[in-house]
This record gives sequence, C-alpha cells and structure tokens, in this order.
Amino acid sequence: MPSTSLAVERLRAELKGEATPPGDPESDRARTVSPGTIDRRPAVIARPRDAAEVSRVVLTARDTGVPLAVRGGGHGIHCVCDDGIVLDLAALRGLDIDVAGRTAWAEAGLTAGEYTAAVGEHGLATGFGDTGSVGIGGITLGGGVGYLARKHGLTIDALLAAEIVTADGELLRVDERSHPDLFWAIRGGGGNFGVVTRFQYRLEPVGAVVGGMLMLPATPELIAGFVAAADAAPDELSTIANVMPAPPMPFVPEELQGQLIIMGLLCYAGDDTEAAERAIAPFRALATPIVDMVRPIRYPEMYPPEEGEEEYHPTVAGRSLFVDTVGIEQAETIIERLRTSDAPMRVAQLRVLGGAVARVPADETAFAHRASRIMVNVAAFFTSPEDQAVREAWVDEFAGALRQSDQGIYVNFLGDEGEAGVRAAFPGATWDRLAAVKRRYDPTNLFRLNQNIPPA
Ligand SMILES: Cc1cc2nc3c(=O)[nH]c(=O)nc-3n(C[C@H](O)[C@H](O)[C@H](O)COP(=O)(O)OP(=O)(O)OC[C@H]3O[C@@H](n4cnc5c(N)ncnc54)[C@H](O)[C@@H]3O)c2cc1C
Repeated sequence: MPSTSLAVERLRAELKGEATPPGDPESDRARTVSPGTIDRRPAVIARPRDAAEVSRVVLTARDTGVPLAVRGGGHGIHCVCDDGIVLDLAALRGLDIDVAGRTAWAEAGLTAGEYTAAVGEHGLATGFGDTGSVGIGGITLGGGVGYLARKHGLTIDALLAAEIVTADGELLRVDERSHPDLFWAIRGGGGNFGVVTRFQYRLEPVGAVVGGMLMLPATPELIAGFVAAADAAPDELSTIANVMPAPPMPFVPEELQGQLIIMGLLCYAGDDTEAAERAIAPFRALATPIVDMVRPIRYPEMYPPEEGEEEYHPTVAGRSLFVDTVGIEQAETIIERLRTSDAPMRVAQLRVLGGAVARVPADETAFAHRASRIMVNVAAFFTSPEDQAVREAWVDEFAGALRQSDQGIYVNFLGDEGEAGVRAAFPGATWDRLAAVKRRYDPTNLFRLNQNIPPA
C-alpha cells in the first residue's frame, strides 16, 4: 500500500526546497499545466533545489510506493498526477555557457525561450521547438523539432551529455562514452529512464536569421505549393505551415478573418540576407501575401513574448502523424475537412522535415523517424465534454483521411492514445532496445507516468 502521508512527511523533512501541500497558492500554480484538459490534484509538490534533492524525492517515491510525476515546463499531459508526488523542476534554473567552446550546461527547469534568450546574447543557439514556454526537459527527451531542424537537426542532435537521477537515486553523467545505452535512450525515449537535472548542448553560431510569419490564402494549389517549396528549400530554411481560419488579429484584413489561410512560419538560419531572400522568394511568389512579416531578426525573436501565456489553457483534441506527400489531392482533403468543422479554432499543421534531421541514422538515437518526410498535426479546440466527443471524432477522421504508408508518430505530439500510440512512437527495434535499457535502469517502472515503455 502506498503511504502518502509518510511520503509527504519525509519530503518536508528532507528537502530544503519546497514541499507544498494542496491548497497552497504555489501548489496551485505547479499543478496547473498548459493543456486545459488536465486538472489533477497531487498529494504534494516537491521542488528540489539540486540533484541531491532530486534524488531524495525519487527515493521517497520508491520507498513509499507513492506515484511520481516529473514536471519540466508543464506542456505535457503526464507531468501532474492525482494523489501522488509531483517532482517540479522549476527551481533548477542554472545555465553555464562556454562561449569559446560553444557548449552550454542548462538545468532542467529552464524553458526553451529562457535558454534561447540567454545564449542568444552571444549570437549562439540550440534548436528547440516553435514555442518559447515549452520546457527544455520534455522537448529534449522526446526529440525536439523546431526552427533549426533542417539546418542543425533535432534538439537531441545537439545533446552532448546529461546528468540524470535514476530509479535507485543515483546521479549519473551520461554521454557517448559513459552509459552510452542510457544516453541513446534519453535522446527520444522521453522521461522513462530517470530525472534529468542538467543537459549539455552544442551551441551553433545562429545570431541573425531571416524569419517570421508569412500569411497566404489557402487553396489546394497554394498548400501543395508551400509544401513543395519547403521541400526544395536549402537546409537553412525550416518552415511550419498552419492551415487554419485567419485569426481576428489587427493585422489581418477584417474580410479575411475566419477564412482559411496558410499561416506560414519561416526561419532561415543564416546571416546571408541575399541567400535568405532567394530561399524565401518561392513562397512569396505563390500568391500575394496577406501578411508578410518575414524579415532579418535575431534568432530569439522567433519566440515572441507570450503575454497571458500562464493563464492560457486551451482544451484541444489533436492527432499527429507523418506523411510522405502533401500534393493537390491531400491539400484538397485538408481544405475540405477544415470546412466541415465549426470548431472555434481548427488547424492542419504541416512541417516538412529532411535536411539535417534525415542525415542521422535512424538507430543512432531513440527518435526513430529520421526518414519521415512531413509531420502533420491536426487539432480542434472544444468547449464542453459533448463538444470534445465531436472534436475527437473529427481529428480522428481527419488524420485517417491523410494517413499514408508512414505509421509512426512523434512522441512529443502523442496524446493519451494507449499502448498502440507509444508503440507507433517507438517502432520495431527501437522499442526492444528501449525496453532493455528500461529494465536495466528502472526495472520496477518507477517512472511510469509518461508515454510509458515497460521494462523488458
Ligand atoms: C504549445 C505547444 C507547442 C509545442 N511545439 C513543439 C515544437 O515546435 N516542437 C516539438 O518538438 N514539440 C513541441 N511541443 C511538444 C512538447 O515538446 C512536449 O509537450 C514536451 O513534452 C513539453 O515539455 P515540458 O517540459 O514543457 O512539459 P512537461 O509536461 O513538464 O514534461 C513532459 C514530460 O517529459 C518528462 N520530463 C520533462 N522534464 C524532464 C526531466 N528533466 N527529466 C525527466 N523527465 C522529464 C516527463 O515525463 C513529463 O511528463 C509543443 C507543445 C505545446 C503545448
């Protein structure tokens, strides 16, 4: 029988960092996560201040049998649990930048935006995703697909080493030479193997970029044209195309608000503005842009300040998949499906991969989808449980209509989709290898509140 009161008592006694019970205002902050669908009430939130305290929290969970969730930036669906311990990494905020050596050790409580702003001061960057408030912990452990992906690869491709507290409370340094099996597993395998306290990343010289938003009308020809241009672009250019109703924003002409548009997000990672203009020209040539905010900026400006972010908790039904092609036929499906829904917000997001992502062999890390060509995320907001059922059915159908031969899924965009979903994230030999590493480092599945890989 798990002994919750014993765990709470022990954490209060052993932590200099906080161990807050329910009802405390700080505890309310820490149990609130980005997805508005999650409303869980942990027995205690432990906020360790260093790796030794992380180890104490892990051992308390192990010894008392109380469930343990690990919280980084709070954008996932598993980082808070009912009646258990939440290990909140928010107090681990150290960042040690070696400018000359082009590396940085970052503690796991930082967000992608905080890290990017700090290293950006030196004209350096590591690629994360499209949203600054996402935690470096969750995004790194799942892979990390963002604005530098085609030029510099996934976030895990920049990961040089990590420090991790395993299920027996030990703090290990892992890299290519030390515990290479564990280092392989944490590059894509998620939070299954321990609590990472620090990550060491390679820094790339990415100071100025040409980037921002390019809004185009959405027709099948333009969607297919956008994807073809993204595919043909040099590796410097990574893109995201959100096909969606135009939001009611001041810079969108009123008559277009609510009409389907392509909200393109482009980032050319290089300071040769002429080359950047050449790379971006094919997108601008597709149609007269509705809005064109693509311009020379500093890379951290790709993460604009997110006002009200803390209070923003959308309730969203979403599905993610990989496809090989988005031609006219698929683009017609996208337009048709988006038109059939009246969800207040609905989107098909297309990210053309390739470039540096695809140059890493599929078995070199636990991210097994190197050959996947285009990542598609379809999503619809909902407002009530009845509405949720309608929107879930819609995203299911939408994803089904787009699915081609690639059966994989990116773990960081996987919802609560059962074992089949986790298996699709870690197909074939990747699954077997991960399960073997899990058996070695977490044989009792202490770290199970995640996209779980049970020990072999
Ligand atoms: C608005 C939004 C935009 C996004 N955009 C992108 C994108 O562009 N590219 C992309 O790749 N992904 C993107 N994601 C997905 C994102 O990468 C995942 O949701 C990620 O898991 C969030 O990490 P987190 O630390 O913020 O969340 P959390 O919920 O705190 O963490 C997620 C899980 O990771 C594990 N974990 C986190 N930190 C640690 C740690 N230090 N040690 C051990 N385990 C840990 C835990 O199992 C936890 O349940 C986006 C998500 C959202 C909500």
